[in-house]
Amino acid sequence: MEANEVSKQWNYGFVTDLEWIRQYCHCTADFLDFQEKLYELLANTKCILDGHFEFTPDIHSRYFLRFSKITHYLVHIQVISNAVDRIIRAKGIQYNAVFSNAGPISSIAYDIAKKDKDEEDEKSLFLTTGNDIIFSGEREKKVLIILEELSEVSIRETFEIIEKEENTVVGVVILFQKKSEDASVFIPPEIPLIVMCNIDFPDVWEKSKCELCPDEAIPVNLMN
Ligand SMILES: [Zn+2]
Repeated sequence: MEANEVSKQWNYGFVTDLEWIRQYCHCTADFLDFQEKLYELLANTKCILDGHFEFTPDIHSRYFLRFSKITHYLVHIQVISNAVDRIIRAKGIQYNAVFSNAGPISSIAYDIAKKDKDEEDEKSLFLTTGNDIIFSGEREKKVLIILEELSEVSIRETFEIIEKEENTVVGVVILFQKKSEDASVFIPPEIPLIVMCNIDFPDVWEKSKCELCPDEAIPVNLMN
């Protein structure tokens, strides 16, 4: 990609070309102002790396989305959380707790959880590190799940954790979904699923067919 910059620090490029991003990142939110903001955010935060990555022992790719870069600035967090909030309201989802992962996504989940905090039903925030829930002990909550992407923690496990505490899942928000993953397979059809952006990066190969492996100048970066 000629439009990419080269980072000396990473020895990799970043995708900053808006047209490229529009082509391979399909924002599904139904309002144009957010779509364009999200694309600009992906470009300006240089969070799409251009290099050589191994997602699983079988899959290699040229591009990698480094989501944590988006959450470095409060204004970025608010752009995304406001959009999620608009969609949730439009779909009429009533919730009084937000469940998310500890890590970068938690700042967006927190921003959503604190919206309308002056109302009587102040929302709770649950976070999980994968095995343990932080701030557990509350029960009979109507829980909105917010995840960065499907692969971070399996949807099934997340449902089990929430329902074990006698809470009910009322909606699932996934910010980025890779083309190869389909969250709807794992979620009961009666529960609303909101995918904010479908990622369809080119140049994803089975490891044995990876076009970058033969080039020793581009060492593979293990991301799993
Ligand atoms: Zn490779």
